[in-house]
Amino acid sequence: MFQALVILLILLTVIMVVCVSLVNKRVVRNRASVVHLIWTAVFTAICYTCFILVSPAHYRLAVFMAGMYFLSTDWLVVYLMLFTSAYTNTAPISRTPRRIVGLLAGIDSISFIVNTFTLHMFELELMTSDKLNIDYWYVHLKFPHVIHRFFVYLLVLYSLVILAYRFVKAPVIYKNKYGSILFQTLAVVGLNIMCSAMDAKFDYSVILYASLAISICYLALYAAPKKLLGKINSTIVEDSVIGLFAYDNDGKCAGVNSVAKRLFDSDKDIYSTAEKYLEDWKKEFGGSDEDVIGAERTIVKDGQKIYIYVTYQRFFDEKGRTLGCCFQFEDRTEVVKKFKDEQYRATHDMLTGLLNRNAFEEEVRRILSTADEPYCMVCSNIQDFKLFNELYGADAGDKLLVAQADMIRRAQGDNSASTRIYADKFSTLMPKSHFNEQQFLNNMSATMTLGAASTFKLHYYIGVYDITDINEPVWTMYDKAIMAIDTIRGNYEESVCYYKEELLKSIIEEKEVLGEFDKALKEKQFLMFLQPQIGRNGKAVGAEALVRWLHPQKGMVSPGLFIPTLEKAGLIHRLDLYMWESAAKKLAEWKAQGREDYSISVNISAKDFYYVNVCGAFHALAEEYDFNVRNLKLEITESALMKNVREVVKSIERLQKMGYDIEIDDFGSGYSSLGMLKDIKADILKIDMIFLQETKNKERSKTILKNIISMSKELGMPVITEGVETKEQVDFLMDVGCDVFQGYYFAKPMSLENFEKEYC
Ligand code: C2E
Ligand code: CA
Ligand code: CA
Repeated sequence: MFQALVILLILLTVIMVVCVSLVNKRVVRNRASVVHLIWTAVFTAICYTCFILVSPAHYRLAVFMAGMYFLSTDWLVVYLMLFTSAYTNTAPISRTPRRIVGLLAGIDSISFIVNTFTLHMFELELMTSDKLNIDYWYVHLKFPHVIHRFFVYLLVLYSLVILAYRFVKAPVIYKNKYGSILFQTLAVVGLNIMCSAMDAKFDYSVILYASLAISICYLALYAAPKKLLGKINSTIVEDSVIGLFAYDNDGKCAGVNSVAKRLFDSDKDIYSTAEKYLEDWKKEFGGSDEDVIGAERTIVKDGQKIYIYVTYQRFFDEKGRTLGCCFQFEDRTEVVKKFKDEQYRATHDMLTGLLNRNAFEEEVRRILSTADEPYCMVCSNIQDFKLFNELYGADAGDKLLVAQADMIRRAQGDNSASTRIYADKFSTLMPKSHFNEQQFLNNMSATMTLGAASTFKLHYYIGVYDITDINEPVWTMYDKAIMAIDTIRGNYEESVCYYKEELLKSIIEEKEVLGEFDKALKEKQFLMFLQPQIGRNGKAVGAEALVRWLHPQKGMVSPGLFIPTLEKAGLIHRLDLYMWESAAKKLAEWKAQGREDYSISVNISAKDFYYVNVCGAFHALAEEYDFNVRNLKLEITESALMKNVREVVKSIERLQKMGYDIEIDDFGSGYSSLGMLKDIKADILKIDMIFLQETKNKERSKTILKNIISMSKELGMPVITEGVETKEQVDFLMDVGCDVFQGYYFAKPMSLENFEKEYC
């Protein structure tokens, strides 16, 4: 028994020394506290072994070695305390208590050394065990030894409390880390108490000191972390969000995790699914000798597309030999969906689902760069869409736009792109061969009769630009198609217009007119020309005021080149107000000279009624200038009268009340000339020059003229015929009773000076 104890102690000491050297070699955490702890345990074991081996002849030596053993237990528990606080990550003991503990342990140690001579801590007595047949040293403890015990147990208690606290609080997989040390320390203390309580011959707890030191070494530095790592690894593998297939060197599946099972939905045989997956992968990437390969893949599960990122990885041992491989599957469905959603939103019009401007531009560029047939750009625009929106609400407007977008999508075919530029402006790029004008028009008409649009007759325009240069900027192509639309805008009889180069020219000219108009008006570049009107006796009765633009560079510009532009731009009223005033001024001047026998007819554009208070303007002129109101005649075209009948009729009546004579201009050129005559009681009828123009139906024209004149006579309206160019025409018109003649036969429009020179 005694020998066994000694051998065991020596053996444990050797193991402890090996442990320390192992710990010293490795990079481990808390190495210093572990090393100190073990060295102290080695020292304790050696002291105790020496003590029990001291022969009865050497009493003092035995007392010294026993003292060394006791004092070493002081340092053992001190280092145990330092180790546990490091191991459990408890806040390190602060300086002062550490110093106090060190001081106490030092005093205790000195006391044990002095005890060799004073025997105040303990005494030894040589006893003989008959049973074991040995002599052994029996330790008689004295009172101061109790203080030593108290000190030691206090420190042990501190370590136990920390370990117990950690043990209770730690998650399950960490319990072992604290539990093993906690229970072994408890065992040491228990055995120590038991040995002293039972007056045992030897202190067996020394064995446990040593084994505790060894197992601390093993658990703390090796076993626990490894177990822990294993647990952490398996948790990562099982609970990870990443799917895993692992294979051995023969391509046999060695393991799959639950995520992979879920992804591949293979309850049947996930292993063969995994093996097949590897086979297919190798077919695809067989040539690659990379250790890690990543690829994006999709799987269809329950009809749903799952986007995954697959990483293939090979494993090697330290010598570089392949151990196996694995696949990692990262489910990216959410991310991809979000990305696709964002991408869709960034490139599409949310209302119609067509491309947005930027995406359209890119798509057009892409299509045209590979185009092998002629393409065209088709734009559409709905007349009065804004009004429709206001009348029926934005919802009805949106529905109409969606219907139109659907129609366009159906009509566009492959290799084309469509966009909604804004509001009701759509644009489509498509192969020319695919654009069927009639079908497009029919489809468009059909959409214009859906829902609320059925009660509101919407008119639409389509502009087509046949692309001649595919490198032209996309928005120039679009602008050209829109230019085509602009030329027919407001014209309800037309719906389609193709862009031609001349369009660009006329648009540039229009832009020039509009750009220069303000300045020209301010600088009085507009002149009033007069074209005499001749009575049946061959004498002038008045003149029509016709505007001329004396352009500083272009010279005399005739109204046909700028009046339509100004009308379209809503600016004509400003020129007309100027012309009316010029005429009123001239009449006032003539009146002042005593000439009241000439009248001046001024033109009133249909648009004037939209932009100015025509009655108010003529009332103001009569107030400001002193002229005979009857001498200022107002020419209103038939078409102006037809567009806004009620308003215009009211205005006409008020003007007539003021004393102005109203002439119906261009009579016979419109559609319902006769119908209009029924409603409007004009004063003078001015017959359009088309009836005098040379045609095959000369006789018919004559008959019509004759009858118009006789009809107007019956209505009590004097007749002026314009465009009279020949003597023959004059004779005929004289015969049928025309009252006044205007035309080149008599005189062309002339400047005021010339008119006054010749006629006044
Ligand atoms: P309009 O009111 O029908 O004017 C008559 C046009 O016929 C004038 O053309 C005149 O020069 C032309 N004309 C006169 N006699 C003959 C003839 O024997 N043969 C031919 N072939 N033509 C003849 P102009 O001056 O070029 O004016 C064109 C149109 O411009 C006018 O037609 C009128 O609608 C508009 N216009 C002219 N001045 C004004 C104006 O101050 N205000 C507005 N709103 N329109 C104006
Ligand atoms: Ca006229
Ligand atoms: Ca006329």
